[in-house]
Amino acid sequence: MRFLMIVKNEKGRNMLNFTVGPVMSDPEILEITGESAPYFRTPEFSDIMLENEKLILEMVHAPEGSKAVFLTTSGTGAMESCVMNILNDQDKVIVINGGSFGARFAELCKLHKLDHTGVKCEFGKQLRREQLSGLEDYTALLINMHETSSGVLYDMKMVAEFCRENNILLIVDAISAFLADELDMEALGASAVITGSQKALAAFPGISLIALSPEALERIEKNPEQCMYLSLKLALLDGKRGQTPFTPAVSTLLQINKRLKKIMARGGAKAESARIAKVAEDFRNGIKELPFEPVSDSPSNAVTSLRPLKASAKDIFRILKDEYDIWICPNGGQYAETVFRVGHIGYITDEDNKKLIDALKDLERRGLI
Ligand SMILES: *Cc1c(COP(=O)(O)O)cnc(C)c1O
Repeated sequence: MRFLMIVKNEKGRNMLNFTVGPVMSDPEILEITGESAPYFRTPEFSDIMLENEKLILEMVHAPEGSKAVFLTTSGTGAMESCVMNILNDQDKVIVINGGSFGARFAELCKLHKLDHTGVKCEFGKQLRREQLSGLEDYTALLINMHETSSGVLYDMKMVAEFCRENNILLIVDAISAFLADELDMEALGASAVITGSQKALAAFPGISLIALSPEALERIEKNPEQCMYLSLKLALLDGKRGQTPFTPAVSTLLQINKRLKKIMARGGAKAESARIAKVAEDFRNGIKELPFEPVSDSPSNAVTSLRPLKASAKDIFRILKDEYDIWICPNGGQYAETVFRVGHIGYITDEDNKKLIDALKDLERRGLI
């Protein structure tokens, strides 16, 4: 069955994918995409969607009375939807900005003319409590639980306490943290938790999921409508009967259903994050002797971000792609030459890890790193 999970590059070569999304999928999940998308305005499809909602709420441990919506968009669409539908012009918003995803939230606030302040974190560094002092009178806080660009998993317990003490609404982008790191929406007191199909859920791209607490639901109900396609009011209304306002990525939703049930059958979200933690640990142990320095002082299980001591990160990415048929995850912008990342999410085995570690050791032997 192994052949089924193979992913090919543009020239038809089989690749191993260690990026952070889209990632490799379980062969059983791929079986679904071998078929045409079924018609979806049926009670049968609604049942699947209602089951998806129930499973996702259970997996993020959403509080009683929460709802989940499924938007056909990449993760950024869900970030924008939350900014537009949950917040309003009365809000004063704190944006934790430690990399490109934090910067994206700040950009969204600016675009939608929200009163906001960015809390800058040094790239790769944990957020500290004192960075939040003086912001107690704010009304909402936006955070990417795992800032995927640097590999920092934020201290969510500290952030949740700060928000709870000061009655601040907490919106969590857990797109790359969901299933990779422990996530408990109720314990965090989060109003919204965003996840996506193409990260640790390891389905095709196209769907972003948002779990919404009763507090978020109330805000959405009261806020004036800002948009149509990303409207949470409309999504919630149709969601009551297991439907979506517009044609969704039907096949991806079917993949999600199969995947969620499989994760549940194997012990739930905790068991899945423990499995991913082991894949990450195996990789990190394997590269200890190589000339790389970890970038993140608080790494997530989802990714290892590394700074090559001698070589260009961009060159390492290119050589692994062209000569070893392996994709690692390059960084963009100002870190393109200095940082690369290795993802641990998706259908990755220890054998795959070994191939990547061996390739990196080979680069060292060749004097390329
Ligand atoms: C992947 C990711 C997103 C979404 O990116 P898209 O390309 O829009 O799917 C958002 N936030 C974080 C933290 C991510 O890792």
